[in-house]
Amino acid sequence: MSDLRTELVEAGLLFPTGVDGVLGRSAMFETVLEQVNKAVSGWGREAKAEAVHFPPVMSRTQLERNGYLKSFPQLAAELHGCITPPPGSEPDAAVSQTGLMMVPAACYPIYPMLASRGALAADGALFDIYSWCFRHEPSIEPARLQSFRMHEYVRVGRPSDVAAFRESWMKMAAEIYQSLRLPHELIVSNDAFFGRSGRLMASSQRERNLKFELVVPVNNEREPTACCSFNYAEAHFTEAWDIRMSDGSHAHSACVGFGMERTTLALFRHHGLDPERWPADVRSVLFQS
Ligand code: ATP
Ligand code: ZN
Repeated sequence: MSDLRTELVEAGLLFPTGVDGVLGRSAMFETVLEQVNKAVSGWGREAKAEAVHFPPVMSRTQLERNGYLKSFPQLAAELHGCITPPPGSEPDAAVSQTGLMMVPAACYPIYPMLASRGALAADGALFDIYSWCFRHEPSIEPARLQSFRMHEYVRVGRPSDVAAFRESWMKMAAEIYQSLRLPHELIVSNDAFFGRSGRLMASSQRERNLKFELVVPVNNEREPTACCSFNYAEAHFTEAWDIRMSDGSHAHSACVGFGMERTTLALFRHHGLDPERWPADVRSVLFQS
């Protein structure tokens, strides 16, 4: 397999910025990404998900309460203001805290919002959320970006409803990738939890089938890339935010996250660099509207 990044840069679809994992995109790349996003959104509308929009930054305190800084400190990024220190001042005075961090996954701002709404409806809630995300994992691979977009569906409610949601989205997502003629496989996976206790968390997550990924060969055939993830969080977030069902029990939650750049890259990788020459059925899924 040739080097996908070089091919895409030479074709003018991606622009290097001098920073690994931070890439500029051409109008054509964005058109394809937007059409993929429309295909994903159609399924969300049918499921009557409530669409909500948040900026790509959020409160550090809230992200801490979501457990992110304990589980993934290696990926987190904080924002600070830059001021010129007056001559002779303490070095600490050179940085002003903003209290903000970059959003690492689209779903994180949902929980504080939901907590502020009070008790959940009996049949829970379903959100559609689309956001730029940031993770400090610089890489030369075009499919491992620092700044990328994630379209997520988040289900909060009774454990049986949440499990059924994840099950049905695994089927729907496989149908989407099938309709785009992308070779794919569903595998059990785990998150890259930090440190020694993180390794235990990762193996327990895997043993209990809490994370599945739909993988597609993008960079190479040996290590297919996760284009979509299906995570069952049980009561992890709802206990942190005290989100309860009307009977007083903590709700469960699960999310399904589509990686927009990764899915777009997979299309260019498998169907070629010119979308006009993609298979007719793939074009009709993407460009019918
Ligand atoms: P990986 O195992 O490849 O690191 P992940 O387990 O970190 O992926 P999730 O945390 O489940 O992925 O994120 C949801 C989705 O966001 C992924 O399925 C993927 O499509 C996308 N994604 C995650 N990290 C990146 C990244 N660094 N660059 C581009 N897309 C990403
Ligand atoms: Zn990752």
